[in-house]
Amino acid sequence: MERSFKKEVEALKLGDGDLFEGEGILAVTKALLQSGVSYVGGYQGSPVSNLLDVMVQAKDYMEELGVHVEACTNESSAAAMLGASINYPVRGAVTWKSIVGTNVASDALSHLSSVGVLGGALIIIGEDYGEGSSIIQERTHGVALKSTIWLLDPKPNLETIVNTVQKAFELSELSHTPVMMQLRIRTCHLQGKFYTKNNKKPNISTINKVKEVAPHNYDLIAHPPSTYAQEELKYGERIDLAKRYILENSLNEIHQGSIQNIGLVVQGGLYNNLISALKEMSLSDETGNSKISIYILNIVHPLVPEEIENYAKKFKGLLIIEEGQPPYIEQEIGLLIQKLKIPVDIRGKDILPMAGEYTSEVIHKGVFSFISEYDKSFKNFSNKNYNTEVEALKEDALNLLGSAVPPRPPGFCTGCPERPFFSALKMIEKDVGKIHVSTDIGCHSFATFAPFSFGQSILGYGMSLAASAGVQSFSDKRPIAIMGDGGFWHNGLLSGVASRLLNNSDGILVILQNGYTSATGTQDLISTPESEQRQLAASSSSTNTDKTIEKALKGLGVEWLKTVHTYEVGSVKKVIFEALSSNFKGLKVIIAEGECQLERQRRLKPIKYKTLKDKKRFVKVRYGVDEDTCTGDHSCIRLSGCPTLTVKPSNDPLKSDPIAYVTDGCVGCGLCGENAIEATLCPSFWKAKIITNPNITERVLNWMRKKVIGVLS
Ligand code: SF4
Ligand code: SF4
Repeated sequence: MERSFKKEVEALKLGDGDLFEGEGILAVTKALLQSGVSYVGGYQGSPVSNLLDVMVQAKDYMEELGVHVEACTNESSAAAMLGASINYPVRGAVTWKSIVGTNVASDALSHLSSVGVLGGALIIIGEDYGEGSSIIQERTHGVALKSTIWLLDPKPNLETIVNTVQKAFELSELSHTPVMMQLRIRTCHLQGKFYTKNNKKPNISTINKVKEVAPHNYDLIAHPPSTYAQEELKYGERIDLAKRYILENSLNEIHQGSIQNIGLVVQGGLYNNLISALKEMSLSDETGNSKISIYILNIVHPLVPEEIENYAKKFKGLLIIEEGQPPYIEQEIGLLIQKLKIPVDIRGKDILPMAGEYTSEVIHKGVFSFISEYDKSFKNFSNKNYNTEVEALKEDALNLLGSAVPPRPPGFCTGCPERPFFSALKMIEKDVGKIHVSTDIGCHSFATFAPFSFGQSILGYGMSLAASAGVQSFSDKRPIAIMGDGGFWHNGLLSGVASRLLNNSDGILVILQNGYTSATGTQDLISTPESEQRQLAASSSSTNTDKTIEKALKGLGVEWLKTVHTYEVGSVKKVIFEALSSNFKGLKVIIAEGECQLERQRRLKPIKYKTLKDKKRFVKVRYGVDEDTCTGDHSCIRLSGCPTLTVKPSNDPLKSDPIAYVTDGCVGCGLCGENAIEATLCPSFWKAKIITNPNITERVLNWMRKKVIGVLS
């Protein structure tokens, strides 16, 4: 990874009484070190990638503390790491994006939670739910309930988050149960401050190694008959210990307001949104000084019956503000209230929406109608027009723009090496007809959007080949499964390739090898070239220096294997066609390689800067469109979708359509030229080399050209 976290690494070293300023997820990283973790692992993904990225870059400092950091190949291996805390009194933390990561990790999580832990085990969950989410909309809460893992959902402010990390380890150790701490997207990225403490060097660590192996104890094996006793421990002992700790340490908060009869219950993570909604109703100031009572659940599982009973019995109506579905908290509180025969109405999803993010706008609507129902005069003194005001603001913005902003689907970066592959596939479809494409998670899923619109399904990370097995069996034309190198190592090698080889069945797999897990922040893979090799390959954009993927596939028994450079569109077309028409009946794998352009540009930037500073020769390649030749049919744009290949009005009064135009953002990847040739487009594209600090021959040549052009014109 070329992105530098130098500043953030320094922030990890702050000591007693220093002021930490930064984003939520980095505060968690610092809190882990303050809590004395022995090991940290995880799999990157929004919104928690930075936690691990910073620790990986702080390698030297981690070694000094004796903390082991592991960049795991998937969430399952991260969860299994927590097994260290089963037998040894060590604190460990792992992280991933949920719900998808939790799904992948669930086998290890079930085993871990059945056995229980001796040392604190904490899972930092990036709850990627709601606006801006990139995955299916499910809750981690369901997994926490079914596996008996405690679930923390702290208020989004840095002090609470840091304190919750510390308490999470204590809770885990006391109740012998792993703990999840879910952080929403906004919580991970919110900026704030807190006063730090010294980091704690763990007692057992990479420096202080254990001399004695933990004794064999069959009770700690997740295998029958131990599992029967473990189930009893979960509900006979561990949950009571947890509830007592939560109660005694006041991990949940109760704010008493002056309004009688009604109260609110909110997940801690939604607290800021609730306060801003209440502020709009003149019911609170920004510091949370609310007129209505609020029970803030920083711990959403387990709930503490005594706390709920004491709070609920004061009111006639209680609104549960719980994001997502199913409404687990509402159901549990409702059942408890009914059993205890407390005369209070439990309201929730009958007022607030079942699905979607609870923004302050959504919460405002729900809380407003809840209060109005119990206090008829409320409408007279509150700002009931908040939502109307928001709508009016949107209307004003629309009027200022003149028209609605057109939808802008996400797409490949400028010069992305994956774009040419899909251009080639589009051209192939013109010849052979529509192809069933099983797609996958990763940058290449941008090809599901216009202008490519490829893909019939996405079944998970590294799952495309497995997903195409059934389709393959009944399809006349071979389907194509596409995955990135990230997906290949995450799951694709075993779930897809090994399975296809085991069944000796037909199929086509395309691995788009860009060298990194690019979509999650360009983290390294086992097949990422070493940085020296990357420097050497600076001009070639090749990622295939070690051929690690080819070696793995050959070792497994793949016989039909071709590697092609994605920018050579003609070669890509040829190899796809070969795979579609081959008489070979087994698995055919195409490795389409080309380095992630984002990462490449990060690396080239300092090289360019230094070259120019040293006043050395530097060449930049750019493509452009000849205005006079472009007819304005835009087929080049439909074949590419490059953000820098756009349109502008034509200066020719005889042309009514806008013409194609390449902006200054062009990185000269060459796709425009390749597409023009391979798809026999109009000859309007030109390629230019912009040379800074040219050599003497180039200067003379330039002088002569100018002269000739001068004479001719
Ligand atoms: S991050 Fe890299 S691989 Fe992903 S779209 Fe951008 S250039 Fe392509
Ligand atoms: S050559 Fe074409 S596709 Fe490549 S960056 Fe430039 S405009 Fe985009």
